[in-house]
Amino acid sequence: MPNLHDLIVIGGGLVGGAIAWGAQAKGASVVLLDEGDIAYRAARGNFGLVWVQSKGAGMPPYAHWTRRSAALWPDLAARLRQATGTDIALHQPGGLAFCLSDEEYIERESLIRRMHNESGDIGTRMLSREDVRAMVPGLGDEVAGASFCPIDGHASPLHLLKALHETLAYRPNRKVTRIDAVPRSFTVHAGTETYTAPKIVIAAGLGSRDLAPMVGLHMPVSPLQGQIIVTERMRKIIDYPTHLLRQTDEGTVMLGDSQEDVGFDTTTRIAVLKKIADRNTRIFPALKDASIIRMWAALRVMSPDGFPIYEQSARYPGAFAATCHSGVTLAAAHALALAPAILDGKLPDDVASFGSARFEASRAA
Ligand SMILES: Cc1cc2nc3c(=O)[nH]c(=O)nc-3n(C[C@H](O)[C@H](O)[C@H](O)COP(=O)(O)OP(=O)(O)OC[C@H]3O[C@@H](n4cnc5c(N)ncnc54)[C@H](O)[C@@H]3O)c2cc1C
Repeated sequence: MPNLHDLIVIGGGLVGGAIAWGAQAKGASVVLLDEGDIAYRAARGNFGLVWVQSKGAGMPPYAHWTRRSAALWPDLAARLRQATGTDIALHQPGGLAFCLSDEEYIERESLIRRMHNESGDIGTRMLSREDVRAMVPGLGDEVAGASFCPIDGHASPLHLLKALHETLAYRPNRKVTRIDAVPRSFTVHAGTETYTAPKIVIAAGLGSRDLAPMVGLHMPVSPLQGQIIVTERMRKIIDYPTHLLRQTDEGTVMLGDSQEDVGFDTTTRIAVLKKIADRNTRIFPALKDASIIRMWAALRVMSPDGFPIYEQSARYPGAFAATCHSGVTLAAAHALALAPAILDGKLPDDVASFGSARFEASRAA
């Protein structure tokens, strides 16, 4: 029997999951095809921040898109809870980025000023050594201050992924190997199965690079490794997410955030983990006594300039590309703004500058 749908989404990570969920919530018949455990899956190895304060320096549309997503997040969390009963542990109390020297403080202050001047005021401010200690007890002597953004937050990325998948026609272990395309009609081959729809979204993370040309799109993404440490459950040490550390509802503390250009390599390295642990114990000396219960490495999905790619194929209208390296942060925009626009056949104006034309040189190469 042919599998006919309104929309096929390839890639069951956070980007594909959010778009598929948003489209289904609008009444579309959607199938979500996912390669499964064997693939590289950033959605299962990430830090869980809904992070706004430093996103989009030099690219105001990205700052505004991120802010829009942060504003939509409470609605997405509430709707997922209503649909599935899953609490994805969203908290948006504001986020802190600690500075461990006066030089770091000055550098951060200049970034925050730049963001303000380029993209407008969202209440991000610098906190002095004294101010940050009044907000967060137990900080190490080296903490020289912090930036604070009132709309930053965090959530459980695994609960989010589970909630997105739960109500969808989610098909794991379906590696897509071929797409037969004509404008507004796409037949997708995954093993012995075929699926057909007038619209298709390529959101296969690092797998998108190979799939995109099949529908006239260009997604030159590459991996950037990040490593994470998780401690045992601890008494509450902080109420706010930070870009290096966050405490989950269960009490474990997650520590990051490394960036290693090592290709498709997901092995952890002691030198990298040590650097993560060193910096975080300088911020919170109490962490020195915590036991580590887990460590892992996962691969971010990066475009050449680090900004998202959203595009509709000029050659095969109805085929869309979607990728970014902040799939948690942008999940709400993907579900509640991008997905309805895709169903209407046109990307939102907010993302007009995220096409792949900016990578023409790499396409030619
Ligand atoms: C260490 C680390 C920390 C991070 N921290 C944060 C954070 O704090 N906040 C934040 O917003 N983001 C964070 N991210 C980024 C976030 O995890 C990613 O943006 C997001 O997971 C990307 O989602 P994706 O769906 O594009 O890719 P993925 O999650 O990689 O999913 C891609 C999916 O496509 C499937 N696939 C691939 N090829 C095929 C094929 N041929 N056929 C069918 N399916 C296919 C795979 O099975 C996979 O499930 C972090 C990432 C890492 C690695």
